[in-house]
Amino acid sequence: MKYCMQCGSEYQEGVTECADCPGSALVDAEAMRQRHIPLPGEGETRKFVRAATAEDPFTAEDYVRLLEIQRIPVFIRPRRSGSVDVLTTGALEPWWEIMVGEEYLERAVQLIAQEKRQLEATSAEAALAAEEEERETEGSVPPGSL
Ligand SMILES: [Zn+2]
Repeated sequence: MKYCMQCGSEYQEGVTECADCPGSALVDAEAMRQRHIPLPGEGETRKFVRAATAEDPFTAEDYVRLLEIQRIPVFIRPRRSGSVDVLTTGALEPWWEIMVGEEYLERAVQLIAQEKRQLEATSAEAALAAEEEERETEGSVPPGSL
């Protein structure tokens, strides 16, 4: 048996793609367990809730790595804006849900908020460094040579 990593649907061996989730990988039960994704009919009681959203897959994967280090059950669910968003933004942008085990929600939200602040600080630092470099380049031109 193979399972869809996104919706958990069960498939016969030989099927390569979930009918409901185009592009999603089908994996075996062992891989599903490693990812803490409940299998159909196994009586798994863990509920997954959304801890955060990401606007690109790299950020989403970054969050997942972060949470996996803390042994928090987590998986990514790709989404696309519905018709409501098309009306408000005019774009059909994909986004990603970071789903975590319900009992880990608070911790996951905290960790992601921390990571977000760090990412923002890093990009602010990079912008500052670029600015400084620019100033240095300008300063290297001897006055009066223009
Ligand atoms: Zn699926």
